[in-house]
Amino acid sequence: MSFDSCKLCGWKFQIKTHDNEMGVRCTRCGSSAVTQSLGQVIRPHLQTEHQLRIYELSSRGAFVRYLQSTHHEITLSEYLNDVPLGSCKDGVMCQDVQCLTFDDESFDICTSLEVFEHVEDDVKGFREVHRVLKPAGKIIFTVPMNLNANTIERTKLVNGQREQILPPEYHSDNLRGVGKVFCYRNYGLDIVDRLQSVGFSNCEIIKPNPNELFGFGRAVIIGEKLI
Ligand SMILES: [Zn+2]
Repeated sequence: MSFDSCKLCGWKFQIKTHDNEMGVRCTRCGSSAVTQSLGQVIRPHLQTEHQLRIYELSSRGAFVRYLQSTHHEITLSEYLNDVPLGSCKDGVMCQDVQCLTFDDESFDICTSLEVFEHVEDDVKGFREVHRVLKPAGKIIFTVPMNLNANTIERTKLVNGQREQILPPEYHSDNLRGVGKVFCYRNYGLDIVDRLQSVGFSNCEIIKPNPNELFGFGRAVIIGEKLI
């Protein structure tokens, strides 16, 4: 038990059930250390009288509930294998971040939690997010990241076929469950170069405070689309 306030909802009690980022939870809103890290960074960006259009690349969980508690206009989606892009199933819109169906300059902020390591062509995804952001719009997101190394691709394309370089790695998510989501790469500090390569400026990796969240805070990455 810790008396650090939740970075998302402000509640005073957090528990640690496991020695990892997902094992640290707020006992009120249920947010993990990863979610709280993103919440802490995004909060000042949301404190504006203007109603922002925000696009979050998931459809459920504590961060989605937090966004929905603000006065901003929130668009949510998931990647669903069996649903045409832009269509909905059970109220959830299907999008592939590598080819979004939104118009150019649709959003003020795009957020995601632990998504881009699962995107086959992440640079294509970053380019699409850049396209759908308005001028001065921001991408604000987390990925599992080694802050002392560069990105390691776990697969490569050989004659159009994807082959493993390293043993397959799978992560868990809210929708698909435990160990079901294929991981294409382990990110490092050069993620900033990938954002810059598609046009983002003022890119920054905001490192977690090791004295908070039982030491399991996540780095948060920001990039801005210049006016
Ligand atoms: Zn909370």
